[in-house]
Amino acid sequence: MKHLRLLVQACFAALTNGYLRGFLEGKIYSGPLKQLCVPGLNCYSCPGALGACPIGALQAVLGSRGRKVSLYVVGFLVSVGALCGRFVCGWLCPFGLFQELLHKIPCPKKRKKLPFDRPLRAVKYIFLVVFVLLLPVVAVNAVGIGDPWFCKYICPAGMLFGGIPLSLLDAGIRAAAGALFTWKFALLIGVIVLSIVVYRPFCRYFCPLGAIYGLFNPVAFLRYEVDEAACVDCGACARACPMDIDLHRTPDSRLCVRCGRCRAACPTGAIRNSLRNKRG
Ligand code: SF4
Ligand code: SF4
Repeated sequence: MKHLRLLVQACFAALTNGYLRGFLEGKIYSGPLKQLCVPGLNCYSCPGALGACPIGALQAVLGSRGRKVSLYVVGFLVSVGALCGRFVCGWLCPFGLFQELLHKIPCPKKRKKLPFDRPLRAVKYIFLVVFVLLLPVVAVNAVGIGDPWFCKYICPAGMLFGGIPLSLLDAGIRAAAGALFTWKFALLIGVIVLSIVVYRPFCRYFCPLGAIYGLFNPVAFLRYEVDEAACVDCGACARACPMDIDLHRTPDSRLCVRCGRCRAACPTGAIRNSLRNKRG
């Protein structure tokens, strides 16, 4: 399961960032596929990106003149969420993969969560409401266009997949890099350091896309369920969970990225995916 998931994550990241010419020439792909969203946090400005990040697309349309809401992007998010919730985070998101790889770096004391865990978890909802939905609409320039606030001022995936490669490949972008570049670079370094110590800190505390998909975890077509008759209350699932979730008590947790470690650890096979239960 562990290796399968890593393979799926790597293949999906390569597939959705497969515009190799972009990496060679330092240009962003702008063909017809770029009209479509990909499910994970995958920066539009990555030289290899073949699709658009739904969080970026949402802000771009909200901040356009006329304050439109993209029914396509909202429909995409609701459809993906209703289909599989945060399975996207655990299996498809390139920035989730990046954090997981960093967490494999040895350090003296790994932690499952930070101090002030509960209030910190609310930050991703604040980012979603304030930076993704509100500010692009209300803080507009002289011609009525709003910035994509989350992408521009916060998103470390944008710096990793877009800002750094483009600045390395394009001398003009490198020369223009100023205080904003430095700020976002510092944020990325912060996420990198945190990811070595804590499992997926950006997913847990800060990601607005994870915040949206997490709302669907209790109702998604594909989710984890616990067979109470088979469960012997041994606690192995909770001990195995890197996100500090006790799945047999809270199978619908909005934090669960459906990585499957708890399922693999369960000695009685009590944790099943809903698809298997539906097939009977
Ligand atoms: S509860 Fe299970 S599937 Fe969810 S994050 Fe924890 S180990 Fe992964
Ligand atoms: S590991 Fe399986 S049997 Fe043990 S508490 Fe979790 S669901 Fe129940």
